[in-house]
Amino acid sequence: MKIPQIEKLSKPLIEKVAIIGAGLGGLAVAVALRKLGYDVQVYEKAQDFRPVGGGLGLMPNGLNCLNAIEPEIVKNIRNSGCEVNTSILKNTQGETIRTNPATRYQDKYGQPLVTIWWWHLQQVLVSQLPDDVIHLNHRCIDFKQDDSGVEIYFDAAQKVNADLLIGADGINSAIREVLIADGKPRYLGSMSWRAVIQSNQDILKPGELGFVRGNKEFMYLLNVADGYISWLYRRLSSDCELSQNVDLVKSRVLYQLADWGESLRSLVEATPAEQILEGPICDRLPLNFWSQGRVALLGDAAHPMAPALGQGANSAFEDAYELALCFSEASSIQEALANYEQRRIPRTQLIQTRSALGEMRYYETDNEAAARQMQEQSQMSSEEFQNWLLNYKPYE
Ligand SMILES: Cc1cc2nc3c(=O)[nH]c(=O)nc-3n(C[C@H](O)[C@H](O)[C@H](O)COP(=O)(O)OP(=O)(O)OC[C@H]3O[C@@H](n4cnc5c(N)ncnc54)[C@H](O)[C@@H]3O)c2cc1C
Repeated sequence: MKIPQIEKLSKPLIEKVAIIGAGLGGLAVAVALRKLGYDVQVYEKAQDFRPVGGGLGLMPNGLNCLNAIEPEIVKNIRNSGCEVNTSILKNTQGETIRTNPATRYQDKYGQPLVTIWWWHLQQVLVSQLPDDVIHLNHRCIDFKQDDSGVEIYFDAAQKVNADLLIGADGINSAIREVLIADGKPRYLGSMSWRAVIQSNQDILKPGELGFVRGNKEFMYLLNVADGYISWLYRRLSSDCELSQNVDLVKSRVLYQLADWGESLRSLVEATPAEQILEGPICDRLPLNFWSQGRVALLGDAAHPMAPALGQGANSAFEDAYELALCFSEASSIQEALANYEQRRIPRTQLIQTRSALGEMRYYETDNEAAARQMQEQSQMSSEEFQNWLLNYKPYE
């Protein structure tokens, strides 16, 4: 069954929507709500759009939702990213141990697995919006709401008014801080380093996705089109201290890879130090509500999750689609947001929990123990869970 498309409404429920954050979730919901006919404005703290981020994997559940928002988005993603047809497991010397076909995604779930540079994906979404909809250099610091609307405040710009405020401002969301005030994210015990580089080495062939398993450490290798490769290195670490400067970041990674093979080390050696992003892996515990009055959370602001299942962006696209659908069906803001929470919270709670457990599994020596633990937690086998996750149908 195909999920329903987002279509223009004859009479939108409200007029003005303010979205905080021009990340993946904020941009996707902006496109969806504009298609319904709402006046949408997006406020982003960054001063410009730059080639940042690493590579990420887009999965059928996220792509199907984007397709229902606007089919051209998925067409452009398929042109800007790489379809994965084989996943390969390597050892730390760079030798291939096993290969698995990844083509069944398209057959089973209606969309392929696509790897893409975060920045290219952001550009695909930005290109769906008129220039005057996105307001850069707008860091939101607070909001106040009453029965008639929301007033939104910025650190260096005039306040704005809206009928609805969507906090799509990521894991350290300012909107969540005002709405819920649940403190800082939870550190999950491992650090991450990632970058995108131009590579003419044949460590990864077109259509391949690489996973290198080490001892309490691993690396993903993603093709992100146009001859660029994204490497992502992760390692268990009891503390989450950041390096003092970019040169120390790079030497830290190279030191940790000291006994890895040259083909893998050379990817890091070839990466300019200032392009390596270092950060702790964090999430937050699931919430029981994401909205109050005229304010709602979306994406990482609502349900930040460990990256183990690669669902951060994909579940944000589900949110964007569902929120728009709720606003096309309900007769009041309260009804729309209550439906949004009811449809999204149980599903994302399970994804958050499984993602946190999946994080432990990366470093487990006994994979079966971790798999059993997962099964006990959710009463679903790995295959059942994958079908439930990737074969997402909002109405079921
Ligand atoms: C620069 C960047 C690079 C990333 N790279 C990767 C990657 O390589 N791989 C991966 O798997 N995930 C990456 N992520 C995370 C991934 O995008 C999210 O997990 C997922 O897509 C959910 O998106 P989101 O829109 O909820 O949050 P995010 O994508 O984090 O977007 C939040 C947006 O809100 C803006 N913002 C934050 N606070 C404020 C404020 N107070 N006022 C105004 N704007 C604000 C941020 O600048 C950002 O643009 C990256 C996120 C960012 C911001």
